Amino acid sequence: MNDTASPAGYPHRHLLGIEGLHPPEIAYLLDLADAYVEQNRQIDKKRAVLRGRTQVNLFFEASTRTSTSFELAGKRLGADVINMAVARSSVQKGETLLDTAMTLNAMHPDVLVVRHGDSGAVQLLSQKVGCAVINAGDGAHEHPTQALLDALTIRRRRGHLDGQVVAICGDILHSRVARSNIILLNTMGAEVRVIGPPTLVPAAVEALGVTVHHDMRKGLNGVDIVMMLRLQIERMQGSYVPSLREYFQLYGLDQSKLELAKPDALIMHPGPMNRGVEIDSLVADDINRSVIREQVEMGVAVRMACLDALGRHLPNLNGAAS
Ligand code: ASP
Repeated sequence: MNDTASPAGYPHRHLLGIEGLHPPEIAYLLDLADAYVEQNRQIDKKRAVLRGRTQVNLFFEASTRTSTSFELAGKRLGADVINMAVARSSVQKGETLLDTAMTLNAMHPDVLVVRHGDSGAVQLLSQKVGCAVINAGDGAHEHPTQALLDALTIRRRRGHLDGQVVAICGDILHSRVARSNIILLNTMGAEVRVIGPPTLVPAAVEALGVTVHHDMRKGLNGVDIVMMLRLQIERMQGSYVPSLREYFQLYGLDQSKLELAKPDALIMHPGPMNRGVEIDSLVADDINRSVIREQVEMGVAVRMACLDALGRHLPNLNGAAS
């Protein structure tokens, strides 16, 4: 079942990205998350591993799945969870990211979960605060918990990640989901193809160990997994595609393009979906092939696993180092 034995645990204080993580560390988080999937399907979903701890969720960018699942994850582990509504906070009054972080830090949280529009902002913040920090998405850079939940979804369906052929399709250029997934899947021995128009595939992406396709029909040929991405309009200045209609024709996943993948290929999407732009409703809702809802379920378990793993490095509640 596991790609690699995971005796080492998760030795880091923060989770800032997938880059730099070793296969046993990734496998350890996935194993831990697997156990939380089962727990979340029980009537009693509560554990006390973070009892007495304070988790602050600080989201400078919009979020539905990630923020709710981090909130749920913290509460299921017994933490006191606070959601900072940035729109109503002093950030709107001109306070900088670091001043906000220092203010929160003075309240002695144990874990900060941060999403920010600038690549690298979460790492910068982690250097200034005294608590554990989880990156919930920084600009077009990394979204580590998304890649972990995608990996868990694939591993539970297929039993392993190594050897799986995964096509990541669409706006690769602006996607932190693509970047974290490429790194994780390569680290765990999967084969990654990226598919998108030349304007939306970064020039140096091959250096990350992927093959590039601009023709979706060729790129999808024989793949095990089709991962669709949303056009990140909010990160674009100007237009990268001639029209949404043409984009759908060339790069939208519909039944006819899907037929080129393996007959049992799984369809994934991190959400939010733009139906009729990158994906057709018929394939998004195909109960035999689409695992999009499953990804959401895995998201809660993965976030519990990450909080649990980081919680193990926090000082003991009675004052002694753990
Ligand atoms: N929810 C994912 C993210 O935050 C994907 C997306 O927004 O398209 O990156």
